[in-house]
Amino acid sequence: MEELKPIYEDEVECPVCGGKTLKYSVYTYVVPLAGEVVMEVWKCGVCGYRKSNVGLAGVGKAKRLKISVNTDRELRALVIKSSTARIEIPELGIEVVPGPAAEGYITTVEGVLEKILDNMPSECFNESHECHNVVVKIVDAMNAKLKFTLILEDPLGRSALVGENVPIVEEPLT
Ligand SMILES: [Zn+2]
Repeated sequence: MEELKPIYEDEVECPVCGGKTLKYSVYTYVVPLAGEVVMEVWKCGVCGYRKSNVGLAGVGKAKRLKISVNTDRELRALVIKSSTARIEIPELGIEVVPGPAAEGYITTVEGVLEKILDNMPSECFNESHECHNVVVKIVDAMNAKLKFTLILEDPLGRSALVGENVPIVEEPLT
């Protein structure tokens, strides 16, 4: 990918160290099948704090997106998850609710599972622990051995699911 130039840059106050040292940069680029995407990055040169967000350009409508994942094709579908979006995978009993520090990112369905796995409490990787079965299910899901539904709800409508020849269900979020 060619190097992107920011369309906007500013120095703002860092929420961690309090200095006016937080570099804020905005980039835009076009994602095939999704359209224009805006990426925002905050980086503090003093304390190292960083945060990022992504979202579809423009004003969206509250929406719920669903993808049924059965094969590698759906695992490779793109997920544009804005910071305000909530993720749910009912078959795995997983719900990721956005807090005030929530980030936005672009990844694949498999990448979402990877992030969830990274955030599992360490005791769940121990076979004797009750929550170990969740880890096993996530790994099965990452290897297309377990069918599941990924639901992405975004009250600002700036998130997207994108896959070639992958049916995505979009509903208004009420
Ligand atoms: Zn700082």
